[in-house]
Amino acid sequence: MPPNTARRRYPRSSMSTVISPSSGVLEQQYGSDNYAGICPEAWAAMDEANRGYAPSYGEDTWTERASDAFRKLFETDCEVFFVFNGTAANSLALASLCQSYHGVICADSAHVETDECGAPEFFSNGSKLLAARSDDGRLTPDAIHELATKRQDIHFPKPRVVTITQSTETGRVYTTAEVKAISAACKERGLWLHMDGARFSNACAHLGESPAEMTWKSGVDVLCFGGTKNGLAVGEAVIFFNRKLAEDFDYRCKQAGQLASKMRFLSAPWVGLLETGAWLKNGRHANEAATHFARQIEGIPGVRVSSPVDANAVFLQASDEILERLRQRGWRFYTFIGGAARFMFAWDTDLRRVDKLAADLRASAGA
Ligand SMILES: *Cc1c(COP(=O)(O)O)cnc(C)c1O
Repeated sequence: MPPNTARRRYPRSSMSTVISPSSGVLEQQYGSDNYAGICPEAWAAMDEANRGYAPSYGEDTWTERASDAFRKLFETDCEVFFVFNGTAANSLALASLCQSYHGVICADSAHVETDECGAPEFFSNGSKLLAARSDDGRLTPDAIHELATKRQDIHFPKPRVVTITQSTETGRVYTTAEVKAISAACKERGLWLHMDGARFSNACAHLGESPAEMTWKSGVDVLCFGGTKNGLAVGEAVIFFNRKLAEDFDYRCKQAGQLASKMRFLSAPWVGLLETGAWLKNGRHANEAATHFARQIEGIPGVRVSSPVDANAVFLQASDEILERLRQRGWRFYTFIGGAARFMFAWDTDLRRVDKLAADLRASAGA
């Protein structure tokens, strides 16, 4: 997610700066859930994978174990691929679902539309994103129908895919019934259904339903399952429930620079997350932290939680003055979505620190 400032280069420390081992380490901040570190389960698996040698490019036992763990979790024989980040996962998955003259229907606030620098269009050689207006980041069957039928002439890209984000960029979660309704609309029009699950674990924790029920049993063809925001250092899994669609996906990854040669370090942490259940525990804790924060700030004059808290995000409406005072108290957060201040909670959120944030917000509001 973009910070408000347009920074194109990494900051450079001056040659004379003494870098202490702890430099750069912040107290917990809730600007994004990717400020957090690596969870112990993922770290332990990395450590174990680091003892000795293993074949490269995914021929290792860690990659096999991680792939099997996904098959077990989703209760189906899916095809699994490991890539470095979410932009690559989404872009390459979408590219595998369409030709260059096709269109991809998404919500206007979708990460693929607003935060991937045109990568979905680039990797699909020009497929056009067709963005539907949405207040909370969720698509509806009606919006899909409208975009899919608006233009049916040869001069406009032919809609071929729908992509939905679970949980959404504004912290909402689609119910399984909603996903099923979307997939029915897709089937009716011959559209594939892709799910951006950068925060799939948060959605799962919120719904309390099985990953299978939330995806392929509801008609999802391809899922990008987020690891980074769930406690990994790096890495997302692309999961094809419709295995035919995975044809040559390995070549697509390689060409895009997304085939890790030491693949075990992308896959082993997933073994740590999946085999221990940490993936769900992490999502649940992050969600609880968001709910905790929302409760702590109830009733503060001039501060309003502007979107229901389903997952691990809390969006606040407050005056610029209040937000500025909160910043002056050392808190970092972004306001790039509709002017609301966003707080994202990660797998390791310390609830006492959240209480401090709430108290500082209360003080900033003069309450
Ligand atoms: C974070 C995020 C991604 C992945 O972003 P990368 O920075 O490319 O890893 C994808 N989709 C959503 C909704 C996200 O929040």
